[in-house]
Amino acid sequence: MTSPAQYGDGGPELRERGGALHLSAVLPAISAALGSPVPTAIHRDPLALQAALGLPEARSVVIVLVDGLGYWNLNMRLGHAPYLRSLMNDSSNQRPIATCMPSTTVAAMASFGTGTCPGLTGMTGYTQLNPNNGEICQLISFSNAMAPLDLQRQPTVFERLAERGVRVTSSGLPKFAFSALTQSALRGTDYISNTDPRRRIAAAAKAAQKPGLTYVYLRDTDKVGHNYGWDSDKWIGTFERVDGQLGLLRRSLPKGTLIVIVADHGMITANPEQRIDIAEEPRLSQGVANIGGEPRCVMLYAERDENPEDIAMRWRDFLGERAQVRTRAEAIAQGVYGPVEPYVEPMLGDVIVSAAQSVTIVDSRTQAEKATHLPSVHGSLTMLESDIPCLIDMA
Ligand SMILES: [Zn+2]
Repeated sequence: MTSPAQYGDGGPELRERGGALHLSAVLPAISAALGSPVPTAIHRDPLALQAALGLPEARSVVIVLVDGLGYWNLNMRLGHAPYLRSLMNDSSNQRPIATCMPSTTVAAMASFGTGTCPGLTGMTGYTQLNPNNGEICQLISFSNAMAPLDLQRQPTVFERLAERGVRVTSSGLPKFAFSALTQSALRGTDYISNTDPRRRIAAAAKAAQKPGLTYVYLRDTDKVGHNYGWDSDKWIGTFERVDGQLGLLRRSLPKGTLIVIVADHGMITANPEQRIDIAEEPRLSQGVANIGGEPRCVMLYAERDENPEDIAMRWRDFLGERAQVRTRAEAIAQGVYGPVEPYVEPMLGDVIVSAAQSVTIVDSRTQAEKATHLPSVHGSLTMLESDIPCLIDMA
């Protein structure tokens, strides 16, 4: 387990995880590389971030986010990826940066898009409490959730650049163009849709001929990882295709275009023998009104008269080395979520459980059978899950 990343503009000399070497720093750093620095609520100095991440100046930048492609997942399969291997041969790319806690898509996407942290974006887990109705909501589809702009109130870096007249283009799947996740975490781009991945790459390369920022999202490594395992042959086939798409993008871009490749999180292989079903351990449900988060980072919401310390004690007692257990107060004091807005506080669990080893924590009373048996998962603080690449290339 790593310690949770810290937020701010500090460089690696801090000897802490995070700071400038964090997913939240990438878009502010790119804004500086484009000559239009956008400071955010936690990153005041985009030029310092640009220097720490080693980004050269460029008139046109393409940022690619490969869902679920952690730094170590990538490095353990480099033999299958000639383009990414060529990038990893460059010593400046041989360092991971950190994603947020939890290492999950919605929290990471919002931290990335806004250049801030889950404590400010209100996007703190795959599922979380909706304080307006006291029920659990899901933040991929926003089912049962607050409206995207009510929940996520930080401006996105895309919006801030577009306000200044910088071209900001996103090339993606049609179904994500107006999705709640796009509106909350990634709003403000001119979105070009295509169902064909090679046409999305071609559209991005065409947009990048003009000065400005182009965003490309590749989701298949995450999807195939969850369904078949990131250590499966199917995943390797997908990884090879992703590498092919990235190589095609590189070859299609005008000379002098800066390319930055990141991920939102990595993945581990779940061990079915380390699966904990809350439904089968009554003491884990004691005093707990609602359960949110995901199998690698569970958020427990206490019943009205319950002391969260007591829930935390029972969970620590039961899980031992198998998890790190924090009360909300401890997590906030440790800066795990960065600064936390008052309206976001009740969305965080009263108790937050980060799974260690290959443990998954599920609840068969409320979760679908398939969701409780995913071969690969993420959300916690192991290096595999929380170290991500930030690869830099110049066309
Ligand atoms: Zn993801």
